[in-house]
Amino acid sequence: MPAPSKLSHEKSHAEFHRARKVIPGGVNSPARAFGAVGGEPVVMDRGDGPYLFDIDGNRYIDFIGSWGPHILGHRHPRVVEAIEDALKHGTSFGAPTHLETVLAEIVVDAVPSVEMVRMVNSGTEAGMSAIRVARGATGRDKVVKFAGCYHGHVDALLVQAGSGALTHGVPTSPGIPAGATADTIVLPYNDPQRLAEAFTEFEGQIAGVFMEPVVGNMGLVPPKPEFLDAARQLCSEDGTLLGFDEVMTGFRLSFGGAQELFGVTPDMTMLGKVIGGGMPVGAYGGAAHVMENVSPLGPVYQAGTLSGNPIAMASGIATLSELKETNPYPRLEALGARFEQGLREAATAAGIPHSIGRVGSMMTLFFTSEDVTDLGTAQMSDTARFGKFFWGMLERGIYLPCSQFEALFISAAHTEEHIDEAITAAREVLGEIS
Ligand code: PLP
Repeated sequence: MPAPSKLSHEKSHAEFHRARKVIPGGVNSPARAFGAVGGEPVVMDRGDGPYLFDIDGNRYIDFIGSWGPHILGHRHPRVVEAIEDALKHGTSFGAPTHLETVLAEIVVDAVPSVEMVRMVNSGTEAGMSAIRVARGATGRDKVVKFAGCYHGHVDALLVQAGSGALTHGVPTSPGIPAGATADTIVLPYNDPQRLAEAFTEFEGQIAGVFMEPVVGNMGLVPPKPEFLDAARQLCSEDGTLLGFDEVMTGFRLSFGGAQELFGVTPDMTMLGKVIGGGMPVGAYGGAAHVMENVSPLGPVYQAGTLSGNPIAMASGIATLSELKETNPYPRLEALGARFEQGLREAATAAGIPHSIGRVGSMMTLFFTSEDVTDLGTAQMSDTARFGKFFWGMLERGIYLPCSQFEALFISAAHTEEHIDEAITAAREVLGEIS
C-alpha cells in the first residue's frame, strides 16, 4: 500500500516493493517500517542539515536524525571532512589506532561514570557486553530491567522492551530461549517501591540494574528524581552495579549525558548513536574496577573485528569535538521548549487529550491526557489518532517518528523557523483530526 499522503511517493513505492522481495519487511530495522501507522516507509535519497530528501524529490524537516545520532544535522562539514581524511589512511586495520584512544579520552573526560571504555559497533553490542561484564564482575546472574526500556535486541533484555517491540506487539521475541530471560527481573519504570521490594526478595543476587535514565523507547518519559536516587542507593547497598543505557541520551541531553543532567552517577554506561556521529559506533564503560574485568585485562570475553573502526572513530571525534566547542545544549533546550509549547497550544486549541514528555531535544506528544510516567500510562495513548497525526505531518513535509512509542529529536541544525513550521503544520493537522 503506498503512503496515504498527497505527496507523490511513486518511486518510494516501487523501491520498497523491490526491497521487500529480498529484505524481511523491506527494512533493515523494524523501527523504520511504517507498520504502526498503516503504510509504507518513504525511501530516502539524501540528508542535508535539518532536511531529508526522498527519492521522489520531496523535502522534509527531519525530526528523527537517524533515530538520534545526527545531533549536528545531516552531513555536518566537520564530520564529513573527518571521515574523508580518515578514509585516505584506510578503512580498517584490526590493530590499535590513535583515533580509538582520542575518542575514548573524550568519552572518559565527558561522562562522569566512565573511567575506562570499550568501543563496539552498536548500542545492542554495548548492552549485551555491559550485562556480561556486570555478571562477571559481581559473580551474580540476575539483572533488573524496566518495562518499556529498550536496550537493543539483546536476548536477556528483550522482555517488555519498548518502541519497535512494543509497536509490533512482540514484547518478547520468539527465538529467545526461556533460559536467556530466566534471570531477568522486569519492573515498572519510575517505581522506587517495587525496586526496593525486588532488592529485598533477591538480596545479594542482582548483578546489575539497567535502565534508560530518560526513556526514549516508550515515547519520551522522564525519570522521577527519586527513582534515580533510589536506584543508586539500593544498588550501592547491595553491591549491585547500576547501568545507565545512554545510547540515546549520551552527548544528547548534555555533554555528559543524563547522568550529568540529573547528577546521578551509575557504575556502568552504555553509549551509541551520537558518539558515532552517524557511523556505527557503540561503547560501554564504567568505573576502572568494573572495566578491569574485560578481556584481555580480565576474564570477561568481548571482542569485535571492526570495533574501534577508524572511519567511525573519526566521525565520532569530529561530532563530540564540535559539541564540546559549540555547546549547543542551551539552544537545543530552548528549541525543545518552543516546540513543546507550540504543540501543547495546538492540541489544546483542537480539544485533543494530550500529554507531552520532553527532556531537552527529545520529545513525544502522547495522545492521552494521562501523565505518562511508565509503560502502562504510555499505552493509554490513542495510537489510531497518532497515526493520523503522523501522516498529516508527513504530507506537510514534517518527518516524525512513525510510532507513538518513539521520541523525536531536535538537532543543532534546526532553527526557530523550522520549529515554527512544524508547529504550524501540527496546528492544521490536529485541527483536522480532533
Ligand atoms: N539502547 C537504547 C536506549 C536505544 O534507544 C537503542 C536503539 O534505539 C539501543 C540501545 C540499541 O542500539 P542499536 O540500535 O545501535 O543496536
